[in-house]
Amino acid sequence: MVDIEKIRTQFKILDTTVYDRPLVYFDNAATTQKPECVINVLADYYRTLNSNIHRGVHYLSSAATERYEETRTAVQQFVNASHQHEIVFTRGTTESINLVASSFGKLFLHKGDEVIISGMEHHSNIVPWQLACEQYGASLRVIPFSDQGVLDLEAYRALFSDRTRIVAVNHVSNTLGTVNPIKEIIQIAHSHGVPVLIDGAQAISHLAVDVQALDCDFYCFSGHKMYAPMGIGVLYGKEQWLDKMPPYQGGGEMIKDVTFERTTYNELPFKFEAGTPSVGDALALKTSIEFMQDLGVENIAAYETELLHYATEQLSAIDGLRIFGTAPHKTSVISFLIGTAHPYDTGTLLDKLGIAVRTGHHCTQPIMDRYGIPGTVRASFAVYNTKQEIDTLVTGIQRIAPMLA
Ligand code: PLP
Repeated sequence: MVDIEKIRTQFKILDTTVYDRPLVYFDNAATTQKPECVINVLADYYRTLNSNIHRGVHYLSSAATERYEETRTAVQQFVNASHQHEIVFTRGTTESINLVASSFGKLFLHKGDEVIISGMEHHSNIVPWQLACEQYGASLRVIPFSDQGVLDLEAYRALFSDRTRIVAVNHVSNTLGTVNPIKEIIQIAHSHGVPVLIDGAQAISHLAVDVQALDCDFYCFSGHKMYAPMGIGVLYGKEQWLDKMPPYQGGGEMIKDVTFERTTYNELPFKFEAGTPSVGDALALKTSIEFMQDLGVENIAAYETELLHYATEQLSAIDGLRIFGTAPHKTSVISFLIGTAHPYDTGTLLDKLGIAVRTGHHCTQPIMDRYGIPGTVRASFAVYNTKQEIDTLVTGIQRIAPMLA
């Protein structure tokens, strides 16, 4: 059970009024709001601890380094990675995927090779692979999905060839809310000796993730979608892959020895962490993990599922409203259209009622093409949202529907 009133007191931004109405924040798939405990750790870092890490003998630098590395341990435990050095800090999911596409691609992609992705990927799990394919003469193969928003696993099996080098799919679709059967997807790939990258951007705040149980080769996520600040993210990678892969960026921190003739690289994970990292954001990520663990990830998931079912039922009852993404296993994301209204118009009118939803293609243009629509309106819920707020959305839609007709 979650104590919703107590949780909401942690999020001062939820007290905002928008056009004299209480804010209803339903854009959580884009970014979650931050609890006071996270904001305090970030502010305190700059007030009391600000220092560059890993290369100072002085007190502040040592203390900041220790706290930074404690965050790595917290992340390792949160996703149950075998080793601390399998956790690489990045700026976010996008950077994590680009790192793998670039570095893995350099070593393992050659002319005629193939990369499998799905038809419901965020652009950040499409374009980095396209760039790598373009560079090395490889090509993309795409897993199709049903009208409901369920991946076609038979078609997936048929996509493998002796040229398949990697599979990259999301754990949860940011547009359809589908929770993909990644364990099965990984098993199938491994039966062909092919590694799998999971884009966990939309899963990490809603589902318990155990990278060892999943046996994924890479798992990527962003702090800002799990109550932490923007600017910090994670790449989990199995040691066996990270060890082999060449550095992604060159600079300070990632080297062992530099001469003009030759540079040798630092050990994992530092080989992939060139330059000054987002130390304060990392410290606050640890606090966001503790925030979620205190609530219990299973409790968060159960509460959000309750919100999802309530909202799906209420919204489905509205005349002319179509929901895109009706897979049996979903997280708390609802994409919809009202009649023939453009999503942008719907979003603008809802905003005037204080309701924040996202409109457009949600960085998943191929999904829009699949359904032949320009975009959707997306309401996505987090642990601080309530059924009353969903009622406000439903009433709001009923109110604006005649204006959109
Ligand atoms: N993958 C998915 C499924 C997402 O929803 C997002 C962001 O919305 C991303 C990747 C990119 O995340 P970021 O912008 O934090 O790098």
